[in-house]
Amino acid sequence: MENDVITRVLEAFKRLPGVGERTARRFLFYLLERDRAVLSDLAQALRELETRVVQCSVCHLIDVSSPCHICSAQNREPIICVVSSSREAYAIESTGTYKGKYHVLGGLINPVEGITPEDLFINDLKKRIESEGIQEVIIALPSNTEGEITAHYVANALKETGVKISILARGLSYGADLEYTDPLTLERALNYRVPYGEK
Ligand SMILES: [Zn+2]
Repeated sequence: MENDVITRVLEAFKRLPGVGERTARRFLFYLLERDRAVLSDLAQALRELETRVVQCSVCHLIDVSSPCHICSAQNREPIICVVSSSREAYAIESTGTYKGKYHVLGGLINPVEGITPEDLFINDLKKRIESEGIQEVIIALPSNTEGEITAHYVANALKETGVKISILARGLSYGADLEYTDPLTLERALNYRVPYGEK
């Protein structure tokens, strides 16, 4: 099969979110016919990504080092933003205004799908409050049912630490996915965060 590798690349592209047959073919032929430099960079970068990507042992962010570049930075404020996935942390990071740290839960509590608090990184968040001298925890979870159940659980779990707990301001529409929220709205939701429970 001569074009086996072409089929494999096409199939791989099609497995990416939002990419169908046509887009996959456009990507492929762009790389093959128009821009071989991009092809070479992409091949190299993907290979490197595959070998280097790790999950931070402190905050569980996907990065190329553990502790990640944020946990190992010296100038981060003693604030933790709690998100469900790394994608959301990177979305907040892209606003450029947040200078605190993150904690990636690795999902949301979902009784229907059998995802319990024990499946998430909640216990070590509690430990971080003390060990890192954290002064505030910002809950930045989706405003859907699972997000609200999880926020409630996290806030309860942190109660005894006495840490200040806040939540993103409204402005994010119901069920809005943080990563698709425009940076300005996200920035505003962060800046106008409110104490948890008063929302
Ligand atoms: Zn980290």
